[in-house]
Amino acid sequence: MSHIVIVGGGVAAGKAAETLRKDGFAGDVTIVAAEPHPPYQRPPLSKGYLAGEEGLDAAVLHPAPWYADRDIELRISTTATRLDPVAHRLETDGGMLAYDAVLVATGASPRVLPLEGHDLQGVQTLRRLEDSDTLAAELREGGRRLVVIGSGWIGMEVAATARTLGNEVTVLERDPVPLALAVGPVMGEVFRRLHIENGVDLRTRVQVERIVGHGRAAGVVVDGETVPADLVLIGVGAVPNTALAEAAGITLDNGILTDASLRTSAPDVYAAGDAANAYHPVIQRHLRSEHWDNARRAGAVAARVMMGADAVHDGIPYFYTDQFDLGMELSGYPPLMKDAELLIRGDVEGREFIAWWVDDGRVVGGMNVNVGGVQKAIKELIRTGDRVDGGALTDTDVPVDSL
Ligand code: FAD
Repeated sequence: MSHIVIVGGGVAAGKAAETLRKDGFAGDVTIVAAEPHPPYQRPPLSKGYLAGEEGLDAAVLHPAPWYADRDIELRISTTATRLDPVAHRLETDGGMLAYDAVLVATGASPRVLPLEGHDLQGVQTLRRLEDSDTLAAELREGGRRLVVIGSGWIGMEVAATARTLGNEVTVLERDPVPLALAVGPVMGEVFRRLHIENGVDLRTRVQVERIVGHGRAAGVVVDGETVPADLVLIGVGAVPNTALAEAAGITLDNGILTDASLRTSAPDVYAAGDAANAYHPVIQRHLRSEHWDNARRAGAVAARVMMGADAVHDGIPYFYTDQFDLGMELSGYPPLMKDAELLIRGDVEGREFIAWWVDDGRVVGGMNVNVGGVQKAIKELIRTGDRVDGGALTDTDVPVDSL
């Protein structure tokens, strides 16, 4: 294998390039990244970077010279426009590349809300560094009125950061509780209370109708009432960037479909990260995860497979968030957690607890809230799939690593 091309500028792309060189790949490596930055990770964009507590270095995986030092060609501000799996060629807006293997790590884009007025100035989504910069320019001043449409992770994180920076924040959500799709209604309630106690005007079961006005005089019409806004953030999920793969005739289904080794339906074309819907060998179904840890691990696995190793992407999905004084980590298989029983160890009111998702006596998910040092043990419980006594799971006197 002499030339590996990586399309993408997120953590999956960066980690793939890093792994190729770390594991001794001596051929050519080219990264084709549409954004004007070396591959970077997005979690800080709604948290520390947005708040001004962390700089660009917290987001960027490695600075540009790191790639040059390792003989990795980094083509930033370059978009891959056409992939020809038969000819093994990738066309970009900066020229054509011949490849032996290509990794499609094109990520995801914010879902567009079919709303009147959402292209107005002052209304935005958050995916790129520049989006975070635009929000930061306003929010770091304090005293702004931010309206967030959608209470997913990004909406809730920005709401927390904006509030902490001294802004008035309203969150508008169609469901009865925030984050219900991600953590279920009981845990969603924990986040609802957290935000309300910190002064966020969190309105659930509401229907956003349209956005009116311009810039500082904007407003969001919800159930007939206009909520005034200096800026509006739409955070209603993301859709995988599949256009390049689709045009190449590669099989899609909620993203780019891959096997457990991240091979797509086209020879020598691999996919990883938010764009990929990879077969998970443990739960024996496809799983598209939109989390940093998944993208990171998948990038590394794809690199090894492209080098000829027999690697599979079989980790347990993991996610973390920080909002106000709440630090949370969540490990588990979302499809199995949906109908599982919820058991609690610790103090939910005091926001210091572990929630367990248990299916037929087996832990399929675990979420530690303001409890540190337990993730490894939680993952181990999930990984082994051993039956665990519910009494021990909920008993704070039984150490988690002895379960
Ligand atoms: P991306 O990071 O989306 O990168 C894909 C890149 O490919 C982009 O730069 C894009 O421009 C480029 N690209 C697309 N098409 C082309 C093309 N044709 N040619 C060239 N380049 C192309 N996850 C967590 O687990 N915890 C968190 O706290 C967390 N916080 C987040 C906060 C924010 C604001 C956002 C947006 C996401 C957050 N996530 C978090 C999710 C996490 O960032 C994503 O799962 C991760 O970015 C996925 O990485 P990726 O490499 O697959 O794709």
